[in-house]
Amino acid sequence: MAKFTRIAVANRGEVAVRIIKACEELGIETVLLHSEADINSRAYRMATKTMCIGPAATAESYLNIKANIDGALAGGAQAVHPGFGFLSENADFAEAVTKAGLVFIGPSADSIRSLGDKVHCKELAKKAGLPLVPGYQGENQDVVHLITQAEKIGFPVIVKAAAGGGGRGMKLIKSSAEAGELIESAQREAASAFGSPKVFLEKYLDRAKHIEFQVFGDSTGNVQHFFDRECSVQRRHQKIIEEATSPSLTEDLRRRMGEAACAIATLGNYKGAGTVEFLLQDGEFYLLEVNTRLQVEHPVTEEVLGVDLVKMQILTAQGEFVHDPKTIRIPRGHSIECRIYAENPYLGGVPSTGLLGKVQWPEGPRRRYEYGFDEGDTITPYYDPMIAKVIVWDENRPRAIQKMIKVLQDSVVFGVHTNIPYLIEILSHKEFVMGTMTTRFIETYFSEPI
Ligand code: ADP
Repeated sequence: MAKFTRIAVANRGEVAVRIIKACEELGIETVLLHSEADINSRAYRMATKTMCIGPAATAESYLNIKANIDGALAGGAQAVHPGFGFLSENADFAEAVTKAGLVFIGPSADSIRSLGDKVHCKELAKKAGLPLVPGYQGENQDVVHLITQAEKIGFPVIVKAAAGGGGRGMKLIKSSAEAGELIESAQREAASAFGSPKVFLEKYLDRAKHIEFQVFGDSTGNVQHFFDRECSVQRRHQKIIEEATSPSLTEDLRRRMGEAACAIATLGNYKGAGTVEFLLQDGEFYLLEVNTRLQVEHPVTEEVLGVDLVKMQILTAQGEFVHDPKTIRIPRGHSIECRIYAENPYLGGVPSTGLLGKVQWPEGPRRRYEYGFDEGDTITPYYDPMIAKVIVWDENRPRAIQKMIKVLQDSVVFGVHTNIPYLIEILSHKEFVMGTMTTRFIETYFSEPI
């Protein structure tokens, strides 16, 4: 396959910047496919070329398949990088990109269909004998039937939208009495938010850790894992702080989970970067889902292993990346990432928008800042309020925590409110410091809005 000379970046914010930087290092030009609202952004200034593909509303720009493909073609790109969120896990988009004669930088549409769909993925995993959270993923969506299934599983049960993601579309059911109402409202919300009313049920694990494995399928289809990340610090099922590697795994668990991750990705003919997510409770692990794309928290893996996953994605799409059988991957030290949200912690965490004044990220060794906006840019209300990520690396976990606290204390973001003060509180909490936190850590120790 010929080398790419220009790649279309079908995304915005910090991930668009991340992709542009990887392209620059590889000597590849970029065309940023952006909405009218993102003209004041770093990605817009950094891209070789820019193409406006629609108005601020995501349905008409970042989620519009045709607009993205037309923009990529008109911009002279040979390939499309979807980043994360938006169309990154949309099999129809991957297929349409390929049909248009472009290369989709990610797995094939078939892989996305079999692994990215939560219900299909579970069926595949079941056949392969991988441990799943007990649950019901059947076609029968009748409410009375679903209540019976929930009773069989045993409460508490979590009801999830089959097409859901990003921590949305989930409801906790504590008893039979409330099951009918919650299932019906989950179906209604799933239909309006994700275009399909289909839901499934899982036993709710109430003291679990979220642990995931980075997998990577090379150009020949050889899948290897790039160790684990722990993402148990979550608010409303959304990650806030992630680290590599997990402080909670024994060597035996790490080996078994890594093997399971590679097994499911291999079954789905996986190519490129993906993540296999698990819940870990009482020493047992359960497959949660597979994310068929780059993840927000990929930098912590890069930091402990010294790799560049975005460049590897691009090289794989060019047919050039093959895992070296002589490489023995050993994670070194510890890396932590904090997601910086533009939100007002004193007003229930509502998004905070406006013109950015002074922005300053403190320099120093092994500190990494991934951000999409500079001083003078405007944070608009149209998109996800995550405006930056701060990533640190140090020799061990206690030192990495200490470093992150100092870096956050010295970071300056004026013009909008951010969650930085909350992040510092979380990092200083005894449970976090011990590394024993579960996914209920925030709800247990911090009152909303954290
Ligand atoms: P999404 O695709 O929306 O991110 P996931 O299925 O990956 O949804 O779940 C996100 C988070 O929700 C998990 O990390 C975990 O904290 C919580 N969660 C999901 N399923 C369960 C479950 N069965 N038991 C306990 N917590 C769960």
